[in-house]
Amino acid sequence: MREYFSIDPSKPIPRGPDVTYECLKCGDVIPSVEQAGSPWHCRCHTVKLDHDAHRASFEDPSAVRGIRESGSPGLGPRVSRQPPQ
Ligand SMILES: [Zn+2]
Repeated sequence: MREYFSIDPSKPIPRGPDVTYECLKCGDVIPSVEQAGSPWHCRCHTVKLDHDAHRASFEDPSAVRGIRESGSPGLGPRVSRQPPQ
């Protein structure tokens, strides 16, 4: 289950292992928390992460949407696997 949220710079921006930020300008999706080899900014630099300060900054918050994946493994209801189409 995928949930989208808009970025409101006046509020704390959600982050976590299940949260990513999608840049609507270049289409890159940036994880909100550092992962091995993960990018820390999108191609057009609208989305930038400062992992040392543990925050994200957005050049243009209206061009970014957040994505939260719910139903992490081990949490929530089990999702039955569909056979490949
Ligand atoms: Zn971008």
